[in-house]
Amino acid sequence: MSNENKMTRRQAVAGLGTTLAAVVAAPALGNTTNNTMEAKPLEDPTTKYPKPPFMEQSQPWPGLASKMNPRPDHGETSYKGSGRLKGRRALITGGDSGMGRAAAIAYAREGADVAINYLPAEEQDAQEVIALMKKEGVKAVAIPGDLRDENFCKRMVDEAVKQLGGLDILVNNAARQQTRKTILDVSSEDFDATMKTNIYAPFWTIKAAMPHLKPGSAIIGTTSEQAYDPSPDLYDYAQTKAATMNYVKSLAKQLAPKGIRVNGVAPGPIWTPLQVSGGATMEKLKQFGGQTPMGRPGQPAELASIYVQLAAADASYATGQVYGSAGGGGQP
Ligand code: NAD
Ligand code: MG
Repeated sequence: MSNENKMTRRQAVAGLGTTLAAVVAAPALGNTTNNTMEAKPLEDPTTKYPKPPFMEQSQPWPGLASKMNPRPDHGETSYKGSGRLKGRRALITGGDSGMGRAAAIAYAREGADVAINYLPAEEQDAQEVIALMKKEGVKAVAIPGDLRDENFCKRMVDEAVKQLGGLDILVNNAARQQTRKTILDVSSEDFDATMKTNIYAPFWTIKAAMPHLKPGSAIIGTTSEQAYDPSPDLYDYAQTKAATMNYVKSLAKQLAPKGIRVNGVAPGPIWTPLQVSGGATMEKLKQFGGQTPMGRPGQPAELASIYVQLAAADASYATGQVYGSAGGGGQP
């Protein structure tokens, strides 16, 4: 027994020697790579993007990013990949606009094959994303359909698995947000649609995806600062975001032994179609993001790297976490 122990220790020390040698060699390699990249000038985050006041605008739900003024930045011209998700296969709901689109562009530039889901009314936004992803030479799959239908959620997962040849990353990002001044203004139809989109759809989608997710896979849910500090006019929506934060933590514990990580992203006020198609009052919209310490709303592009980080293999110890991005406010 003691001999065995000694052997083990000797082997361990030998192994450590190899590891240390590798570590010592690493900086030289790292430097070579870093030196080939161009240095970017420092950017002041307070002046990087538009600030309020914004012009009055409203669109019929679900709204199009292409019709917003100013147009949101989803990283179309700025996101640069470095192969972090090479060979991964991802399904992103609400991938036509907002955070979902920023994640889709970033995933494709990181080398992943990506399927996006969206509502048929959003085909125009979706086609812009598909074209951008195809430019990266990855598979780009469009799966339009309404997530409030359990059968569609199942079909969507089946279709993604079929077209991508499997599934490693699932981003439950789509949501319904409609401002209502009081609880008396929230109809049962409203309440039902919000619950179906924001709570049932991820439940149905995750269940359908489970048989396909192998150890190393990742599930990401988009929650919100609303989960922790709900606005009075978002009675139904805010509680779904608390539920999202909660399922992320419960499922993370359940799936950690299977090697599947589950994490959340909690955005603050972000300039997306959801806000101009019933998500915010006109007063709120004109001053959107102005109350944050940063003095402006975030742009979807500013959250893309968080979705990448949570999906990437090097974040292997992060599960049950909620990463925030809220311009100085919010509580992830
Ligand atoms: P967005 O409008 O760009 O994206 C929401 C997407 O949800 C839509 O593009 C649409 O495709 C999808 N969707 C809604 N109902 C659907 C249905 N029944 N079937 C299929 N798809 C449906 O807006 P966004 O702000 O990028 O929203 C993305 C996520 O970010 C949501 O989960 C939202 O709750 C969250 N969020 C947004 C903000 C913000 O200020 N914009 C803040 C916190 C959290
Ligand atoms: Mg959209």
